[in-house]
Amino acid sequence: MSWLDDADDLEDDFEDYDESSVRSRPNPKANRPRTKRRPAHEDAQIGRVLGVDRGRYSVLLDEDGDDERTITAARARELRRTPIVTGDRARVVGDTTGEQGTLGRIVGIVDRTSLLRRSADDTDQVERVIVANADQMLIVVAAADPEPRERLVDRYLVAALDAGIRPLLVVTKTDLADPSSFLGHFDGLDLEVFTSARDVMPTERIGAALVGHSTVFVGHSGVGKSTLVNALVPTAGRATGHVNQVTGRGRHTSSSTVSLRYRSALGSGWVIDTPGVRSFGLGHVDPANILAAFTELAAIAENCPRGCTHLADAPDCALIEAADAGELGETGRARLDSLQRLLQTFADKPEPHGTGR
Ligand code: GDP
Ligand code: ZN
Repeated sequence: MSWLDDADDLEDDFEDYDESSVRSRPNPKANRPRTKRRPAHEDAQIGRVLGVDRGRYSVLLDEDGDDERTITAARARELRRTPIVTGDRARVVGDTTGEQGTLGRIVGIVDRTSLLRRSADDTDQVERVIVANADQMLIVVAAADPEPRERLVDRYLVAALDAGIRPLLVVTKTDLADPSSFLGHFDGLDLEVFTSARDVMPTERIGAALVGHSTVFVGHSGVGKSTLVNALVPTAGRATGHVNQVTGRGRHTSSSTVSLRYRSALGSGWVIDTPGVRSFGLGHVDPANILAAFTELAAIAENCPRGCTHLADAPDCALIEAADAGELGETGRARLDSLQRLLQTFADKPEPHGTGR
């Protein structure tokens, strides 16, 4: 069982919590009579969901405005079945002052630009929503301790590309091992790569890539992700060091997904730290989304037979024919290899799912 399952359970416990039982201070804006306009909620304010803790959402209102504040909110009963996650834009009504002891009410979610999900495993059709509206994924792997596994990175890449999220890669602990041969596996990808060593963290370079984006950080525990987050966001206070090997949980501060603001002279961005996501099940992934990330190959693949897998044994695959005819060049060849490896990641699935394959 993962922390995510736990979080869901906790949320369930709070589902029927009635926010009206919480004493709230009078708020001149909120105190307008609660008439029949409930479904429309025209006066809702839109805020950024920073994190969720036991059915309570931290929502940032008036982001970068004069009245920026973080409020606590509960979700309205009608949203009981709607997952609301870090990064969501929530419509909030009720007491939105953010004063201590007050509670707003989330009455809706703005359409998401992206949604990072996973299945519990490849055959589990129950989706776990992890992060909404991220446009980048920073994959953190260690050059050693723990040993980097390219297949795990492939799975992160597939999850990112499927969600339309741009992947970035950081290799930490390069003081312990040379990452070159590991990195060679990703030559064919549009992947910005950073290397980091103890005492030589490229925080400025990584920071520059964060400005103007919402970047979800993922990585196996122990790779140095919290160390990196703390270096980028000094106020983050993410717990580092030993992580419980049995549960994969760190201490409390890093047991839930949170949004943290990165700031530098260049501007600001959002870091979304996800603890303990050890893998992404790929049950929901659509191969077409992976191919689409390889724009120039996708154009060639339009000449493939219907339902072509583009894998090495695919009959009449236009990509393989182009490669065999020497039309792809060396880079194109490497990119086809990468594409095929990513497609293979879920061609290996025990139970194929969906259509279009
Ligand atoms: P997380 O589980 O991914 O959040 O990893 P942590 O940030 O807690 O780091 C795990 C361990 O690796 C800690 O003992 C860190 O001090 C150590 N660590 C982090 N980055 C580096 C690095 O670049 N080099 C070395 N040698 N150790 C590191
Ligand atoms: Zn093909």
